Amino acid sequence: MTKFSELNLNAKVLKAIDEAGYESPTPIQAGAIPPALEGRDVLGIAQTGTGKTASFTLPMLSLLARGRARARMPRSLVLCPTRELAAQVAENFDTYSKHLKLTKALLIGGVSFKEQEQIIDKGVDVLIATPGRLLDHFERGKLILSDVKVMVVDEADRMLDMGFIPDIERIFGLTPFTRQTLFFSATMAPEIERITNTFLSNPARVEVARQATASETIEQGVVMFKGSRRDREASEKRTVLRKLIDAEGEKCTNAIIFCNRKTDVDIVAKSLKKYGYDAAPIHGDLDQSQRTRTLESFRAGNLKILVASDVAARGLDVPSVSHVFNFDVPSHAEDYVHRIGRTGRAGRDGKAMMICSPRDEKNFDAIEKLIQKEIPRIDNPLGTGKSDDSEAPAKEVSAEGDKPKPRRTRSRRSKSDAPRDAAETAPTEAKTETATAPDTASEPKPEAAAEAPEAAQDSPQTPAPQEAKADSTDDKPRSRSRSRRGKSSDDDGNDSRDRSRGGQSRGQKPQQGKGPVGMGDHLPSFIALSFEERMTG
Ligand code: AMP
Repeated sequence: MTKFSELNLNAKVLKAIDEAGYESPTPIQAGAIPPALEGRDVLGIAQTGTGKTASFTLPMLSLLARGRARARMPRSLVLCPTRELAAQVAENFDTYSKHLKLTKALLIGGVSFKEQEQIIDKGVDVLIATPGRLLDHFERGKLILSDVKVMVVDEADRMLDMGFIPDIERIFGLTPFTRQTLFFSATMAPEIERITNTFLSNPARVEVARQATASETIEQGVVMFKGSRRDREASEKRTVLRKLIDAEGEKCTNAIIFCNRKTDVDIVAKSLKKYGYDAAPIHGDLDQSQRTRTLESFRAGNLKILVASDVAARGLDVPSVSHVFNFDVPSHAEDYVHRIGRTGRAGRDGKAMMICSPRDEKNFDAIEKLIQKEIPRIDNPLGTGKSDDSEAPAKEVSAEGDKPKPRRTRSRRSKSDAPRDAAETAPTEAKTETATAPDTASEPKPEAAAEAPEAAQDSPQTPAPQEAKADSTDDKPRSRSRSRRGKSSDDDGNDSRDRSRGGQSRGQKPQQGKGPVGMGDHLPSFIALSFEERMTG
């Protein structure tokens, strides 16, 4: 097995690695570090959890150890799709550069421009940024990218999902032709392949995949769930979720619950809290400091249940969790693999359970096809189709107040509203009462609904694919038509730039050598533990 000491890393970097307690490089590190140190472009196909961050951080630091940054001219650039990921990469830099005198700046939304500009003004060796925020700084004339020696694009597939590719192309064009590029993506969608063919020069391709067979360390299950009535479905679904959690008892030490929509993240977290569970939401619409606090407390083990959207959770280095609950079937089969990969890490057992409504069956089929495995069915804890009427929360209709109006203009109110209203007044905090307690916790307050314009897409009756996609990418820039000039990043720090531009960027490298092979129907079989490494020049 390769040792870190054999990789030609800077001695001070090696010391920091030693102090971090790493014994040997992970496959992506063993594969990517040597070519990166030689100054070659690297195309790393790896997902979070494989040690990919260190695979670009360590060689970058070694390369940057000598030399000094000039004012406003960073020597290296790392682009990340989300603030959290950027902050995490920054933490990695701090850890591995502690014996070096290198400076870094983090350009993400939620931090004042002035503060960030002051740091850039002094000159930074490493600039870590979300694409939009970076371009905002560039357009303010406070940043010059012509001295960038190394540029990293992390989680490129997520950048694609979020509509950042035009920005990435533009940034490539703003950096020198001679730069070294380290490019990471969990998968190789055709668009990603195009970008790598255009901007990478004869890259060393390092692919790391967990083998599908070891996915058995994650016990999977699915409840095929159908609400007893359409207006009760949402509430009953949350009851199913609670029952699934309860059934795990003490085995569930901590869990991530994934929802497809931000509104559901809020609703589910509120509902769980109301029922006495230790849960908190995380998604792109939440204030940055709140997101950070929630994550920190989950990481520290002070928060048991994190209710998350895909984007907010993806790429984050959260410790292994005992359980993953998919409150919704993800609309991209690949996200299922990412989601359940949060559990069963490092050889530990994990359990992943999902609730599948009839309208999700198509997406569910796609998942089984992708993982080439049938997910075992779990009995619906509420029974088949029917549930106790008292389970149906009084205000579920209004709880789903963000549903399209037409459904509520029907004349089925009046009588049936009386018992609902009565039940509304009986919320419970007690977990033990979940079987009978109405789920009034779930009502989003009017202002909460107003804060979440995408709630209009929340209709279970209209699962149009595009909508589902938009829902699942909550860090996605929300206002694509917004003018670029003079606008700052949106509150996700993931900019709201005009993405209509595209095409070729200036300064791009000519295509050389063979491009990366597209993965086509590639099965992202990285839910296993052992690694398969492939490296070609
Ligand atoms: P990443 O895939 O970059 O998100 O890394 C996942 C986790 O692996 C992080 O907590 C790293 O600190 C840790 N890690 C990275 N490289 C190694 C290594 N060589 N040995 C042990 N842990 C590592």
